[in-house]
Amino acid sequence: MKETTRLINLDCSHNEVSGKRLSTINPPLYHASTVLFERCEDLYLANTGSYEGATYGTDRLPLQIAVEEAITRLEGGALTRAFQSGLSAITNTLLAYTGSGDHILLCDNVYGPGARFCRSVLPQFNIEVEFVPSDIGADIAGFIRPNTRMIFLESPGSNTFEIQDIPAITAIARQHGVITVIDNTWATPLYLKPLALGVDISIHSVTKYISGHSDLLMGTVTTTAAYGELLSDYYHCLEIYASADDCYKALRGIKTLGVRLKQHETAALEIAHRLEAHPLVAEVIHPALTSHPQHEIWKRDFTGSTGLFAFTFMQDYSDQAIAAFVNALKLFGIGYSWGGFKSLVTVGRYQRSTPSLYAGKNMIRLNIGLEDEEDLMEDLEQAFNHLREGA
Ligand SMILES: *Cc1c(COP(=O)(O)O)cnc(C)c1O
Repeated sequence: MKETTRLINLDCSHNEVSGKRLSTINPPLYHASTVLFERCEDLYLANTGSYEGATYGTDRLPLQIAVEEAITRLEGGALTRAFQSGLSAITNTLLAYTGSGDHILLCDNVYGPGARFCRSVLPQFNIEVEFVPSDIGADIAGFIRPNTRMIFLESPGSNTFEIQDIPAITAIARQHGVITVIDNTWATPLYLKPLALGVDISIHSVTKYISGHSDLLMGTVTTTAAYGELLSDYYHCLEIYASADDCYKALRGIKTLGVRLKQHETAALEIAHRLEAHPLVAEVIHPALTSHPQHEIWKRDFTGSTGLFAFTFMQDYSDQAIAAFVNALKLFGIGYSWGGFKSLVTVGRYQRSTPSLYAGKNMIRLNIGLEDEEDLMEDLEQAFNHLREGA
């Protein structure tokens, strides 16, 4: 059975009304702090941590377990835990698997707030953070020290979309006993299977494509069997959990992930090709274009592309001129986050600690939503005219 079919048939719910079986296609939603025990003996078991069922509202109620199991299956992992946001999934993974005296390597294109956490919080715990080039592969060997504990990847990475050679990196990491973690948000587990490429832990901002409707924040962490117990224990101690309403919405999003991604992929590629031919545009940075610097690696490791990419202009326009272009867009909302049904735009110059092809350049990032791609292209065309006027 294809993955997308399996997602649709994930779970139906069985209960009873007046002694008759009640089945609904969608699962029930529990709002709970207190969970009632049937007998005092169950409470005794809960008191000593040996009760098998849920003991409290923070105990991974059925909807959260359903989301976690869906992601575990898609990633081909052993265990998943859900967090209140993608950033929370990232920061808790870093805290769970590293300790005082460790050295960690991060790709230079990892999600900005995650990098900020590494720079500003991890040193408090005597963890040394080092950034490596965003397009790194086997050269990672030169950065590994005796105390290197973790390599954190994001491919394609935030805003500049460089791709890492994951199998080359994981082969070296395994030789040195280094944990590899990847932020797999861009590809989703449908278009990249990092664990099959040797990665130990895969993270998602469920906020993006998996939920797909820009109406919730959630993250997941999926591990291989070797790393599951540590995450499970850590998670239990910190009493982290995802809200029942958000789990419901995430599960609803998962059912349509496959069909939504196909549309995002087709529309984004069409617009990327047309932008590549546009006289005002210099580079279109989209991994599925043959012009992308790591296109061949993308083709080898990924089974599809999604709707988020960037481009640069031929000319170094003033911030004011670019603002005239962005403000003229009628169908693209100006705002952070991505992966939802509405097209969005952001602009930025991205500082990196290692050499970057796009250093100092103004990057226009587009989230291609589910609108008709002709309408989106027309909108971009009319906005380019404002840029000419404002230059
Ligand atoms: C948005 C994003 C995150 C953070 O997710 P939130 O749920 O918004 O906290 C992490 N990684 C990547 C690549 C993202 O784009």
